[in-house]
Amino acid sequence: MWRLTSKRRGSGAIGRRNSGDGGHLIDLQQVEKTYLTASGPFPALRGVDLRIDAGEFVSVIGRSGSGKSTLINIITGIDRPTSGQVLVDGTAVQTLNEEQTAAWRGRTIGVVFQFFQLLPSLTAIENVLLPMDFCRVYKPAERPPRALRLLEQMGMASHAHRLPAALSGGQLQSVAIARALATDPPLLMADEPTGNLDSGAAEVVFRLFASLALEGKTVLMVTHDEELARRATRTVTLADGRIVAETTNPGSARNGEPAELRQDGTRHASSRCEIVDLRCDSARVAGQEDR
Ligand code: ADP
Ligand code: MG
Repeated sequence: MWRLTSKRRGSGAIGRRNSGDGGHLIDLQQVEKTYLTASGPFPALRGVDLRIDAGEFVSVIGRSGSGKSTLINIITGIDRPTSGQVLVDGTAVQTLNEEQTAAWRGRTIGVVFQFFQLLPSLTAIENVLLPMDFCRVYKPAERPPRALRLLEQMGMASHAHRLPAALSGGQLQSVAIARALATDPPLLMADEPTGNLDSGAAEVVFRLFASLALEGKTVLMVTHDEELARRATRTVTLADGRIVAETTNPGSARNGEPAELRQDGTRHASSRCEIVDLRCDSARVAGQEDR
């Protein structure tokens, strides 16, 4: 049966435990990132301490230029901190080389980039297949139907064979989300994933993330939308490269049904995102099957 998330292979459920030392799943200690620009060094992150536990759904807000994307790039190992420590599930991310980082990220984190970063020469479905092929997750025969199901869930099935150039911003964003979920990663990091979506599509994406968090995945979502942000379990506010506020949101997604289902005090159990039905219970690591 297809469901989106599966029992984690080998490593156990990273989404359900903290890092090996009994600490936090994500643990940033005094992280600084200074870019060297033509007009001199520019500090984009200035001593960020951030701890996120497994299963949390954390939103990050802050004005443009406050360091939100830099933060995501540092946690995902796309960029390195100038100083400080980045621990994700006990791995000191900044100590991995490029190849190790790519393999680690592929297994551990689904990333929805602010500007999508789809490969222009590949169709939508080929973009979604890519991480499964790269990480050899799922048996080869299972990957195309899974990719199609993910695209279907994002309303993109009819565009599966189109190149990115033929898609709108919202469509690219939907494909990028499908791709981020392809390997069923325990951690999902999304940089303004609803920025190009209309409010209905944004709601679908939010509910999807909320339901993934309810299943034990850890979600970090950067957003400009304060209302959406307050429906995550915790909201972190960045300003000028510093965390200036952290609030736990009462009645938020982690406390049962997604918060939006409970704003009027009622529960609508059927509103849970249908994408949970995408779980694939068959063997996940396809290293053997590939050969
Ligand atoms: P946000 O995502 O909150 O809009 P960013 O993390 O993208 O902010 O950027 C934070 C600050 O760092 C901004 O002032 C931006 O101009 C600067 N910055 C980001 N990336 C670079 C870079 N590669 N080189 C120089 N400055 C950068
Ligand atoms: Mg940004």
